[in-house]
Amino acid sequence: MAAILPPARLGILGGGQLGCMFTVAAKTMGYRVTVLDPDPAAPAARFADTHLCAPYNDPVALAELGASCAAVTTEFENVNADAMRELARHTRVCPSGDAVAVAQNRIEEKAWINRAGLPTAPYLVVDTLADINVDLSAWLPGILKTARLGYDGKGQVRVATAQEARAAWADLGGQPCVLEKRVDLALEISAIVTRTSAAQTAVFPLAENRHANGILDVSIVPARVEATLAAAAQDMARRLADALDYVGVLAVEFFVLEDGSLVINEMAPRPHNSGHFTLDACLTDQFQQQVRAMCGLLPGRTDLLSPAVMVNLLGDVWRDDGGEPRWDVLMEAPNAHLHLYGKAQARPGRKMGHFTVLASSVDDALEQAMALKETL
Ligand code: ADP
Ligand code: MG
Repeated sequence: MAAILPPARLGILGGGQLGCMFTVAAKTMGYRVTVLDPDPAAPAARFADTHLCAPYNDPVALAELGASCAAVTTEFENVNADAMRELARHTRVCPSGDAVAVAQNRIEEKAWINRAGLPTAPYLVVDTLADINVDLSAWLPGILKTARLGYDGKGQVRVATAQEARAAWADLGGQPCVLEKRVDLALEISAIVTRTSAAQTAVFPLAENRHANGILDVSIVPARVEATLAAAAQDMARRLADALDYVGVLAVEFFVLEDGSLVINEMAPRPHNSGHFTLDACLTDQFQQQVRAMCGLLPGRTDLLSPAVMVNLLGDVWRDDGGEPRWDVLMEAPNAHLHLYGKAQARPGRKMGHFTVLASSVDDALEQAMALKETL
């Protein structure tokens, strides 16, 4: 395909923080941007040329995206894959509705990972009562996860016994689930791969991720793992993108097990929270890569310019009276970069922003980041 160049118009489904950072990247490069998001206060609406304030399946809004944009992408996986397939009849859509549909459903996702010859934790597909009325010992203690719409630890129940597993499945309304064996985690890491239509790929340095209450808390880069393990994870991310014939930015989450082996946990068909360090610490950032891939350009270089630690800012760090945290301390730190997403309401657990600390070593960056977080 011929590359799509500025000032072409690009479209995105979703105008939250990921859509917002995409919009800033695209606008900076000289593209025009249309955002579809039903929220009049969507963060991306502050920067987009056009905000279509309508439901994601609104036929008029989708028709306008299809007619006016040279390419369309998404910021989240729970868009209607059929809407994306329909859009693809009118314009270039990256990633494809098919790839998004795989990432939307844990059953499909794990099947694709295994079919690509890549490992997952042992899991059982639970579609019907008969599926869970079997000997479950191979998957216990385990985590029952809904096939659809799980994120940030939601839609998951930890179960120790077969009885608990069956009760949890009933509590979840008997919907399709996977029962996944709980594995001994040494670390969690993620790899973000950009793959273009020319089947060129580039993988960012690995992030080591710490979660709190099921939500990403801190990403440490480069991940503190052996070089061979890091290379293996990057290679697996590439192979998964190849298997899906993926075009766009794909985030792949891994578990590093206590025995040193690596399994894939899940993927996201878009830039990822654990890749926000790239905004400040890499030659090209993950949102620039999203623009490049959808425009048919080769991926930019992914070199890490400095060790970095990214800390998420959830609504919890706001004062109980809604007062702002101590931004003065963060803003005065010369090696810290504050990113706020422009959301009006700070609710507990809501992703409001993040900051990234750059230092000459990972340990220094981590120590300084934790000290800054304490002062907020
Ligand atoms: P989400 O879609 O909410 O991110 P995940 O499947 O990534 O769901 O699970 C959230 C977190 O729960 C993981 O990051 C990990 O810490 C923990 N977890 C999930 N599955 C397992 C497992 N099989 N064994 C041990 N810990 C797990
Ligand atoms: Mg996850």
